[in-house]
Amino acid sequence: MINRFIQCITVLAALVLMILNPLETEAADRLQDIGDKLVIVIDPGHGGNNRGTLENNHEEKFMTMTTARAMYDELTKYDGVEVYLTRTEDVSMTLEERAEFAVGVDADFMFSIHYNASENHELFGSEVWVSSVSPYNGYGMQFGYEFLTEAKEMGLLVRGVKTRLGDKGDYYGIIRESVERGLPALIIEHCHVDNERDTGYCDSDSDLKNFGIADATAVARYFGLSSSELGVDYSGHSLTEASATSLNSLTKNDDTEPDFCEIAPETGDDGRPVIRDGVLAVNVTAADYDSLLMYYSYSLNGGATFSAREIWPGCDALTGAYRDTFQLELEIPAGVKPEIIFRAYNPYDLYTDSNLLTVPEMAVEEPENGSLSSREHQDGTIPAAGGTVLSPSGETVPEETKERPGTTTFRPAVSEQAEEEQEVSFLSFLKLCLVFVLLLFIVFFISQYLSYRKRRNRRRQRRKELGDSRNQPR
Ligand SMILES: [Zn+2]
Repeated sequence: MINRFIQCITVLAALVLMILNPLETEAADRLQDIGDKLVIVIDPGHGGNNRGTLENNHEEKFMTMTTARAMYDELTKYDGVEVYLTRTEDVSMTLEERAEFAVGVDADFMFSIHYNASENHELFGSEVWVSSVSPYNGYGMQFGYEFLTEAKEMGLLVRGVKTRLGDKGDYYGIIRESVERGLPALIIEHCHVDNERDTGYCDSDSDLKNFGIADATAVARYFGLSSSELGVDYSGHSLTEASATSLNSLTKNDDTEPDFCEIAPETGDDGRPVIRDGVLAVNVTAADYDSLLMYYSYSLNGGATFSAREIWPGCDALTGAYRDTFQLELEIPAGVKPEIIFRAYNPYDLYTDSNLLTVPEMAVEEPENGSLSSREHQDGTIPAAGGTVLSPSGETVPEETKERPGTTTFRPAVSEQAEEEQEVSFLSFLKLCLVFVLLLFIVFFISQYLSYRKRRNRRRQRRKELGDSRNQPR
């Protein structure tokens, strides 16, 4: 009886483990094979006459050197890795020379270190540029995911793992020259030195060194390295799923504007838009079917000027997710008759403008206490007209209040991610069912065992009684 019980439990446990296993292995192995020894080349971007970005009192060629040296120092703490720098001095080097150098030392990967700036100083965030050629695209995707996950944890906006094409194939020379020589290479654009959202990450030497450590850690995770000096072991670390044979859709360059962007005001009981306490709630619906939406800005004066860019709600360049519907509360200055245009940007900084929204009759409710910025009634309750969702200043509020009935999170391009998540939740459901069944079985077997014992005891008792009566003298 006990043996049968143990057998059944073992079988059930094995079944549960079999079902649970895919959950732990949803991430993938590294696509790239390496030989007996690992050789990494770090390329501090620019140098000499090529000074790189010169914004905000920064000089990129020096920033990249500080980060690259820190990356070198950190990476050499790992076991079984040989590390080189393409340059250690402030010298000019062509992209071909850098690729040749890396090939010359038999490198497995070259990481080119850069800092970014944008023409109108509007952009912020981190991105990784990779080759569009397979399998290098897949290698870049897997590494990029590792680095950008760290950037995200640091608080930076993740702009994604990206590709860009030019006349000769990959647009960026360092990637093209390397891949033509059979060497995987990519560019890490750590952050934007000319946007105040990012300057806190790159305006001191220790900031630049922090990035170097993050880069080295991403390399260690990618290659599954361990370091007795640092006391870390990434040998069991699994990577994101990627294809080695075709362009990974999340890295695909989107050269078309977002598909649509529409706005409509939240209306009162009479069907007219309401500006309450100086705030107009606007419902936004937008989509980019090729990639995702990353930033938004808005104009209150019919497009003459736009606000600074804000992060698109729910935007995640690592999964391709973003919200296709949300409500935005716009603060309308007193006496202004707003002519609102909303602008939706994709990760490649192409944008689409919404319809023009005017509020014809100023359906303004008088503020109860005269305070324009107050979003709350005097009794402390949130106004009924939609609640505080996401203010133009980007302050976030609990997720559940953002959700409006009937809205969905739009996941374009890569639906695999969504499917995977669905699969995972289905597996979680199965897992629950199995645990429940297992519990039922345990209860059943225990009750069976107990009743067996009871019966056996009763039988013994009866036998004993019989024996006793036999032994009794007649
Ligand atoms: Zn650069």
